[in-house]
Formats: sequence, C-alpha cells, structure tokens
Amino acid sequence: MKINISADIEGIWGVVSKKQLGGESSDYQRARKLMTKEVNLLCKFLWENGATEILVNDFHGPMDNILIEELDPKTGMISGYPKTHGMMEGLDENFDGAL
Ligand SMILES: [Zn+2]
Repeated sequence: MKINISADIEGIWGVVSKKQLGGESSDYQRARKLMTKEVNLLCKFLWENGATEILVNDFHGPMDNILIEELDPKTGMISGYPKTHGMMEGLDENFDGAL
C-alpha cells in the first residue's frame, strides 16, 4: 500500500500561534520539531497498518520545515521549493491513498 502525505504546519498538535509559523524564532524551531514528530507518528501508524511505501510532501512556507535528519528513514520526502503541483506534489495514480 503506497501512501502520499501532504504535511502543513497549521493543524500540527501544539502549533497554536503565528509566531510558530516561520521566521528565526525558537517558537518556529519548536514547531518544526512538533511537525516532524507528528509526521513520524503518522508514518509509524501507516507502517504498522500495511503501508509499503510512504512519500511525504512538506508544504508550508519554504517547504523545508520537516527536520529530514529526524524523519523516519524509511519514508520518502519532497522538501523545498518550487513545486509544480503544490500540496499534491509527487502524487500520481500509483498511490493507494493520500492524507
Ligand atoms: Zn502552512
């Protein structure tokens, strides 16, 4: 089961204010960690429930929020800018699901 995840920082558990959405603040750095942890938690759930391939598309601001060095190493990642298909970058007919 091949799954595509489009991840945005708004809606991540613990991200509750604008100062967490970008910039040089420690609040943003903390939000990046929370986003990475939540994506990893989702991937763990998916691996345990039949996923055979996962591709994560980071789609917030500069699109490099997820801390790659802390991302589940089995998980594929699209990071950075520009993206022709935005939040759906990398998604095609070969996926079984999208989150
Ligand atoms: Zn966003």
